[in-house]
Amino acid sequence: MTAEILQIIRRAGRPLSKKDISLASGLSISGVVEHVDRLIDTGLLVNTSIGQSSGGRKPRLYAFNKDAGCLVSIDMETDHAKIAITDFDCNILIDGSCSFDILCGPESVLLSIKDQVVELLNKIKVDKNAVKGIGIGIPDVVDFAEGLLVSPLLMPGWDRYPIRDFWSGHLDCPCYVDNDVNIIALGEYAKGLNFQVANMIVVKVGTGIGAGIICNGKLYRGSDGSAGDLGHFDMGIDVTCWCGNRGCLEAAAGGKAIVAKAKEATLSGRSVYLKDVLAKKDQITLQDIAYGIQRLDGLSIELIRESSVLTGRAVASIVNFINPELVLVAGAYPEFDDTMLASVRQGVYQRSLPLATRNLLIKKSVLGHQAGLIGAAYMTVERLILGSINDEEDAVIAAN
Ligand SMILES: [Zn+2]
Repeated sequence: MTAEILQIIRRAGRPLSKKDISLASGLSISGVVEHVDRLIDTGLLVNTSIGQSSGGRKPRLYAFNKDAGCLVSIDMETDHAKIAITDFDCNILIDGSCSFDILCGPESVLLSIKDQVVELLNKIKVDKNAVKGIGIGIPDVVDFAEGLLVSPLLMPGWDRYPIRDFWSGHLDCPCYVDNDVNIIALGEYAKGLNFQVANMIVVKVGTGIGAGIICNGKLYRGSDGSAGDLGHFDMGIDVTCWCGNRGCLEAAAGGKAIVAKAKEATLSGRSVYLKDVLAKKDQITLQDIAYGIQRLDGLSIELIRESSVLTGRAVASIVNFINPELVLVAGAYPEFDDTMLASVRQGVYQRSLPLATRNLLIKKSVLGHQAGLIGAAYMTVERLILGSINDEEDAVIAAN
């Protein structure tokens, strides 16, 4: 119950009195006192100010302690990572990024990320002992309970690599690893939408294609953590996927497919902009396509549009299946968002049943490129709270 009381205060997003907490939780005021005192002892709750009186003594107000510590938040793609230091209320204190080649393997990639974390901590003069947790979103199949990638398709060499052990050698705090779309979904749900939507899907198109599912107000990970794996839906298209099957959405519409099509079309003279990129770098990346959209390059726009209509058709199947009230579209790059939104809408409305789309909204990500960082921080605080309160309650039970 202590965790639930804290959750009520976090979700309110403003300081609450014991009476407010009592009304929201259904507990008596004396029942609330015990939990509030315990939360103050753990440092997760603070007494902030005196509220408005409704006739008698002015009530004390209690708020979630955003300064209970700092968090390291990491949102990985296959060629770069966004990194932030946040407070406990998921506010970004400083952020940065680093680029790498995922094929260099986990040790080298994580060392680059760690160097950037150290640089960010130094810049804001935060001692590493103030870091209480690390949250990482990874664009592949993650076993959330174990914090490991399991048979990843886009990240060779990461299969069961002990990510937590790597971090424990550098920072003395727990590390939690989740799929990148799951953390985006959590960030959008908690901080972008302030818990106002109970059923929603977040769709991300990057190197992979995935969906994060909020079902009845909770992130749905499935029994092994692989829920929302939209990328390997069979679209009946004649392509071979790196998973070994034929017809997968990701093989036709994911980042690798977009880049391969871009190269082919550029070589046959379809884009002056991409021809220039290819001549300079001898390759085209998803980031180049994003810049292309910004410059209104026709081929870049067409490729993202094509990919998004196909993705929309796959999303239509989930919409029919779980009947969400909101679909949020999040591109790996913010430049994708507008093009993706229009095309995903088209795909969904072509293939969904009228009842499933009657009240359905399809929108752009609310938090934009910060959604993953905020979501990784949110996920980390959730786990830390569960850990510290459970430990506390275990201690109380043992003492009794
Ligand atoms: Zn596949």
